[in-house]
Amino acid sequence: MLDILTLGNETLRKKCATIAVFDKKLEDLAVAMIDSMHANDGIGLAGPQVGVEKRLFVCHVPEDEPRIFINPDIIGTSQEISPYEEGCLSIPGVYSEVMRPESITVQAWSLEGKPFKIDAHGILARVIQHEIDHLKGVLFIDHLTEKKRQRIITVYEKRQSKIS
Ligand SMILES: [Zn+2]
Repeated sequence: MLDILTLGNETLRKKCATIAVFDKKLEDLAVAMIDSMHANDGIGLAGPQVGVEKRLFVCHVPEDEPRIFINPDIIGTSQEISPYEEGCLSIPGVYSEVMRPESITVQAWSLEGKPFKIDAHGILARVIQHEIDHLKGVLFIDHLTEKKRQRIITVYEKRQSKIS
């Protein structure tokens, strides 16, 4: 199982590198990421969250299959913006409403190195946007107002000190 890095780890703030080699190692990494995501009851997990500064993420939303995105880019967004309560395996135990486009078009590459494009709506669009942020070193709390962000970090730190 892969260790999931948490808030404060510098790797979560790194801009990730484009993947150029589609080999067995990449496949093993993606499979291990899906296992770790499932084991932690997550619906998405990005490279930097497991210490890999590369542009890939996995996701598995309800009533869907696990999906793997290599070098993903959002190439279109709906005008409609909607709120959704987000959480993150790297900031466990805290949640906050984030506004994002309701629908997106994403281009990415498969494990076999084949490009593909999908239109995503609702929760899938939400997860994809959250994970692509990770590849730029952006966390969901960065989308909140300064006041809300500070409040959520305080709650998170209190929780962590109780757990440890
Ligand atoms: Zn996250």
